[in-house]
Amino acid sequence: MPNSPAYPDDPHKLKRRGMLFVLSSPSGAGKSTIARKLLADDDGLQMSVSATTRGIRPGEEDGRDYHFVDLEEFRRMVADDEFLEWAHVFDNRYGTPRAQVEAMLAAGKDVLFDIDWQGAQQLFQIAGGDVVRVFIFPPSMEELRQRLERRATDSVEVIDARMARATNEVSHWDGYDYVLVNDDVEQCFQGVKTILQAERLKRSRQTGLIGFIRKLTTK
Ligand code: 5GP
Repeated sequence: MPNSPAYPDDPHKLKRRGMLFVLSSPSGAGKSTIARKLLADDDGLQMSVSATTRGIRPGEEDGRDYHFVDLEEFRRMVADDEFLEWAHVFDNRYGTPRAQVEAMLAAGKDVLFDIDWQGAQQLFQIAGGDVVRVFIFPPSMEELRQRLERRATDSVEVIDARMARATNEVSHWDGYDYVLVNDDVEQCFQGVKTILQAERLKRSRQTGLIGFIRKLTTK
């Protein structure tokens, strides 16, 4: 994927390939909290806001949490190839609008995705080595259920369905580059932050290195 401007005089700001940083977990495993903390902590990271056909939940805001669209609009977006990836999740559809991701990468940002394993898989097919996939496990399924119940935004039937889906989601752990257990949110956040920082330092992402090394080694 394209990327950031070159800053040849500052080795800490060398031109670098933008990263598609995917966070997946079953709902309730703390992924949204971690995503919020990462975004607050890091100016170089921006969130991809998905479109969804699911209803808006209390506390959510259109355009911030999701772009809430109806099925007809979602189908139009699919037909017009406006999604980088999309998938059925529960009985709804979720997709990543392509334009915003491209704009963020072109502005030199890394992009954070809160998407499921299907989305992670599709992004990886498209962008390969520019994608970093992180999976967060809950400490246990009992703890996950308690967290969903505490959240009190869903009915018992919806929670049951989410638990069934969580079991399925967890089974896709081997499609990820990193896995973490969120039994302590601060510790898990620090782990994800470390991954982000280390991935940024990968030689293959630092496309401005050649010029820098040339300067360094030319007498
Ligand atoms: P929720 O309805 O709880 O906000 O999200 C349900 C699931 O859909 C979560 O696992 C979330 O990561 C996933 N999801 C959200 N947006 C997208 C998207 O654009 N693409 C895909 N593939 N999954 C998404």
